[in-house]
Amino acid sequence: MTLTRRVISGMAVSGAIKLLSLSSHVTSMHRSSAILYRQMSTEAQNVATRLKSSGLLRSQALIAGKWTEAYDKKVIEVTNPATGDVVANVPCMGVRETNDAISAAHEAFSTWSKTTAAERSKCLRKWYDLLIANKEELGQLITLEQGKPLKEAIGEVSYGAAFIEFFSEEAKRVYGEIIPTPLSDRRLFVLKQPVGVVGVITPWNFPLAMITRKVGPALASGCTVVIKPSELTPLTALAAAELSIQAGIPPGAVNVVMGNATEIGDALLASSEVRKITFTGSTAVGKKLMAGAANTVKRVSLELGGNAPCIIFDDADLDVAVKGALGSKFRNSGQTCVCANRILVQEGIYEEFASAFSNAVQNLQVGDGFADGIVQGPLINEAGLQKVETFVQDAISKGAKVLIGGRRHRLGMTFYEPTVMTNIKSEMLLSREEIFGPVAPLHPFRTEDEAIRLANDTNAGLAAYIFTTNIQRSWRVSEALEYGIVGVNEGLVSTEVAPFGGFKQSGIGREGSKYGIDEYIEVKYVCLGNMQS
Ligand code: NAP
Repeated sequence: MTLTRRVISGMAVSGAIKLLSLSSHVTSMHRSSAILYRQMSTEAQNVATRLKSSGLLRSQALIAGKWTEAYDKKVIEVTNPATGDVVANVPCMGVRETNDAISAAHEAFSTWSKTTAAERSKCLRKWYDLLIANKEELGQLITLEQGKPLKEAIGEVSYGAAFIEFFSEEAKRVYGEIIPTPLSDRRLFVLKQPVGVVGVITPWNFPLAMITRKVGPALASGCTVVIKPSELTPLTALAAAELSIQAGIPPGAVNVVMGNATEIGDALLASSEVRKITFTGSTAVGKKLMAGAANTVKRVSLELGGNAPCIIFDDADLDVAVKGALGSKFRNSGQTCVCANRILVQEGIYEEFASAFSNAVQNLQVGDGFADGIVQGPLINEAGLQKVETFVQDAISKGAKVLIGGRRHRLGMTFYEPTVMTNIKSEMLLSREEIFGPVAPLHPFRTEDEAIRLANDTNAGLAAYIFTTNIQRSWRVSEALEYGIVGVNEGLVSTEVAPFGGFKQSGIGREGSKYGIDEYIEVKYVCLGNMQS
């Protein structure tokens, strides 16, 4: 995503947390809205002050267990998307700092990989306990830098922490194997060993959970990590790293650098000490990383973009379908990779569904995530908002109709009205690409075969949803969908105990569940010869 973030040269980072001064990147068009928001941002201001005194509002990177500024003192502003206010300045790092973080992770690997599974499990459990003990504060931090409503942000902390808990337990279950030997003088074994130093690159839409889903299994298996969070949401990553230190995870095992994404990414790719890249983000950047990893033949795990179909059959329970589609489409203001992107509705239920769904969408409260009753926060930035506007305009120009919404919200900033559109066609951008915003396009279809064909007509294959009360159909369609995740009569399916990942260009590998740890493990075959006594 193109960013409008300002990099400030030569400003000392130390103590440079500049609470809630108006960001210079707020356009004049938005200044009046920002002023309207002064009142509301009082809560954000109180939150920032409390977080600072709790020690969780960190503004330096973490390398080899030391809080570190950028070597050239450059910083980037982290802003609150609901108000445009600057929450903190963090280091804008590049190749040199990344290489030092890699060296620290490499050194720490030599000891962390030799700890027992029980020792790693205890550290991870402690980290989980601390994440949960600081659930409110971490949730506030997520709302502050990412914008999602506080309740949803606290929900992300529970979800994100659950990966650390799950993998603290899984650490003890990385079993090797004895293979029945075909030759009587030989004994054959399989050992499972950690991959090594892992480069972890994560997006802004789940500032905590996208990190814990990777770092949990990496540390559990004995790997060490260099994390590069999105420059839009580094503060949650830094707070989580602070808690990892308090949990006793040794210096160098967890490093966090941020700043120039291309430089950091290239340094991680170039290093032969980095044995794996695990990435969540856009398909375009994922492809670049996959190509770059070829030079050093690194392993890659990729969690990329989706284009989720949500299929409502005539025989669906209407209330269940409306609730499920609403939850899937509008969570995080539509900014998740598993958000329903195309709502395919069978003709017999189309009118009834469109009406009930629009009524429900109309009631979604939009505003600052810290305000009571808000369920729709701002979009992450102006670029995200403009993308949504472009998609809506493209659809209108090709014949789509707006049932409700379809414009910037009167609150200004990056708020967009929750939107429902009809007369959608396959050639529209809304159908072809990930919307990443609160816009629900409704497509009618006639038959089950047509729904499956439409659903699979995309290069993405992450999540799909179906709503039906017919058990045979639910099974048949689940099997036919070319997707890594299928929700049947359920719009919110993510959990730490189940495998998360995509088919086709939505990615490679799985996160969470018993499969998630395999991504961080090398399988070694040992043959003992000359074993006859
Ligand atoms: P993005 O632009 O691809 O950025 C993701 C991360 O990659 C950020 O940390 C970004 O850094 C970094 N990055 C950008 N260019 C890079 C480069 N050349 N080398 C190394 N790193 C680079 O994606 P986003 O806009 O943050 O996130 C939204 C996307 O993530 C959507 O497509 C969504 O579907 C996908 N997503 C997928 C999943 C999943 O599990 N499949 C989950 C969540 C999100 P900066 O931000 O600092 O520039």
